[in-house]
Amino acid sequence: MPDDEESCLFCGIVRGDVPSDKVVETDQVLAFRDIDPKAPTHILVIPKGPYVSWDDFSERASDGEIAGFVRAVGKIARDLGLVGAGYRLLANVGVNAGQEVPHLHAHIFGGRPLGPMLAREGRPSAD
Ligand code: AMP
Repeated sequence: MPDDEESCLFCGIVRGDVPSDKVVETDQVLAFRDIDPKAPTHILVIPKGPYVSWDDFSERASDGEIAGFVRAVGKIARDLGLVGAGYRLLANVGVNAGQEVPHLHAHIFGGRPLGPMLAREGRPSAD
């Protein structure tokens, strides 16, 4: 399902209506710094097309858009010097993951040891 172009915050960033701390822009992809960083480097990478999530993108995007997005994420991490020490890539999908913005965004975290993959505190019980 396409996201709502009128209300989607990240669509506003793509259009230039909402300010962002831009890192990289290509024909298909925009990367900018997260407004509330959780690591010394915290970048959001988004496709310019209106895709609500990784699920939506993987189903509806063209092969070219998918290749452009994957290559851009890797290049941004390399260009920021994150590969040697390592970094984390994360895409929240839907309610259980706590996705807040309904436009696909890959988080790139780096710049310090990032700890376990999932926080123990507040994690819902699997029981
Ligand atoms: P998620 O919980 O995966 O949907 O992540 C949404 C992310 O968007 C959070 O890390 C927010 O801090 C970030 N965010 C929200 N508004 C903005 C904005 N205007 N510019 C940059 N990052 C934002």
